[in-house]
Amino acid sequence: MGVKNKPPGSRSRLISNILFIVSGLFLLTNLFFPQLYGNPIAQEPYSMFINRVENGNVARASVGQNEIIYELKDANAEQPKIFRTNPVLDLELPQRLEDNGVEFTAALPKSNWLGSILGWIVPPLIFVAIWQFFISRSAGGAQGALSLTKSRAKVYVDGDSTKVSFDDVAGVEEAKAELTEIVEFLKTPERYKAIGARIPKGVLLVGPPGTGKTLMAKAVAGEAGVSFFSISGSEFVELFVGAGAARVRDLFEQAKQKAPCIIFIDELDAIGKSRGGGNGFVGGNDEREQTLNQLLTEMDGFAAGDATVIVLAATNRPETLDPALLRPGRFDRQVLVDRPDLSGRQKILEIYAAKVKLDVKVDLKQIATRTPGFAGADLANLVNEAALLAARNQREAVIQADFNEAIERVVAGLEKKSRVLSEKEKKIVAYHEVGHALVGALMPGGGKVAKISIVPRGMAALGYTLQMPTEDRFLMSESELKDQIATMLGGRAAEEVVFNSITTGASNDLQRATDLAERMVTTYGMSKVLGPLAYERGENNFLGQGMGNPRRMVSDDTAKAIDEEVKSIVENAHQQAVDILEKNRDLLEQIAQEILEVEVIEGSKLQSLLDQAELPQGHTELEQESVIV
Ligand code: ADP
Ligand code: MG
Ligand code: ZN
Repeated sequence: MGVKNKPPGSRSRLISNILFIVSGLFLLTNLFFPQLYGNPIAQEPYSMFINRVENGNVARASVGQNEIIYELKDANAEQPKIFRTNPVLDLELPQRLEDNGVEFTAALPKSNWLGSILGWIVPPLIFVAIWQFFISRSAGGAQGALSLTKSRAKVYVDGDSTKVSFDDVAGVEEAKAELTEIVEFLKTPERYKAIGARIPKGVLLVGPPGTGKTLMAKAVAGEAGVSFFSISGSEFVELFVGAGAARVRDLFEQAKQKAPCIIFIDELDAIGKSRGGGNGFVGGNDEREQTLNQLLTEMDGFAAGDATVIVLAATNRPETLDPALLRPGRFDRQVLVDRPDLSGRQKILEIYAAKVKLDVKVDLKQIATRTPGFAGADLANLVNEAALLAARNQREAVIQADFNEAIERVVAGLEKKSRVLSEKEKKIVAYHEVGHALVGALMPGGGKVAKISIVPRGMAALGYTLQMPTEDRFLMSESELKDQIATMLGGRAAEEVVFNSITTGASNDLQRATDLAERMVTTYGMSKVLGPLAYERGENNFLGQGMGNPRRMVSDDTAKAIDEEVKSIVENAHQQAVDILEKNRDLLEQIAQEILEVEVIEGSKLQSLLDQAELPQGHTELEQESVIV
């Protein structure tokens, strides 16, 4: 449903269009049929005219600038004989006419009246007509060429026929819980204000494509029963600098009138890209920057006392967003909308399976098991593919075999796009992550292991182990860093212990472990052999970030010593990891089997499993947040 203004006075438009057409007709007829506008008069040479005058044959003459029309003295003629001629510049003509007794007068330049009307009136008419045309288009439709400053937000109000509810979204329970709260805010703002709670202004939905961010925002609108302004970030980005900013202003203006309401900005990264960054150099996109600034201003603009306007936004590239957007008072809530786990996938499949005719023997759980890494959109697509296959095979209902074939098709497509793991890969990833978790649990310098997941996430990670700090940390001790390195190597160590072979999956772990070990030696001065010297130069040049800092000039011997020291730290940590996993080989097996089944283990369940781990040697316990992949 679009916001529509009434088209301006359609009568005046009609009149101007008629004028336009009529004058056009005049122009054409004048060009092609000039004789219509005057009797055809025979033309004579000027010399003939002078002759007739001298001979006293001319009765009267009308002398114009471009034409002389004259009548002959001919008493016998029924009609006056009229001729015309084109004059030559002749200053003696009046004298000559007078001498020969010709009655004469100066003619008004009448022959051109039509031309001058056309010349003076038609162009403005054409202009007005064109102008009217654009005005009518811009007011009547959303795509108007001159509607630069109008926001193009689509408005959904309560009772919309395409209403979406939270029941249509599954598998993203945390996000749903967060947004349920937003719906509560919108329904009963008084309750929150009475306690003195500040209602959040902005909520950012973050997650990979197809996980249901847009769907979820629509569900919030449907649930809250308030007006919902939806616009995509890219619609703000315009050819003209300043147009996007004007649109933002207009959007918030409209929204405030309809408060309480929700503004939903999809694909926020289109306008929210980090200013100055991105292209590497300062400057960049003026228009986008102005739009972003306007958005920030508007979000700061409505204060707690004001009408309840909540800005929801979605992005799948949160890392590119301008930090200013994420500050308190703006998008201070961030909701992760991640790919669903096994039970989430099953619930999503149930939603879509309910829309097709399903054979009774179809096992949705088994389908969910076979589709790790599928996002909601992929699952919706999968059900549709299966239904298409069933229809193609003239079946009455969709059977399991249709799903199996559909999975193969979708997976083949997805394998190119993102990550869907084969059974064997999934198994390796499971042991790898459990390896991280077990080492991390026994060497907790990197934090408490809070979650293991083998749901593919992001671009590089096939699975991940999340460690949470139990307090804010600014300083790390040498033993904590060593714990971290060992934990990072835990994944690879598990692959060695279990499969007796190693895969490429650990390369990022190795990179990070080696980096950390090198920093211990060259920056933190933690090596006994090399002493408390900083071998790395500090990052003090202003372009320094990201360019890597050069090593101080060192002798060949020192360089060799650094290399050896780094190597020994990493090798020691690796050995520790292998020792831990060998000691806890059964537990490793047990947790790996469990995670292969459920894909995500967290909370107290994970805790009770990890508590069974036994340490070969004693270690100090301290924490720092990190994600190990
Ligand atoms: P995003 O905005 O995160 O890229 P969308 O919300 O546009 O993803 O999802 C595309 C479609 O996929 C939705 O319209 C819906 O049909 C389906 N879908 C995605 N995620 C879910 C989910 N969690 N539950 C149900 N359907 C989903
Ligand atoms: Mg979307
Ligand atoms: Zn890893």
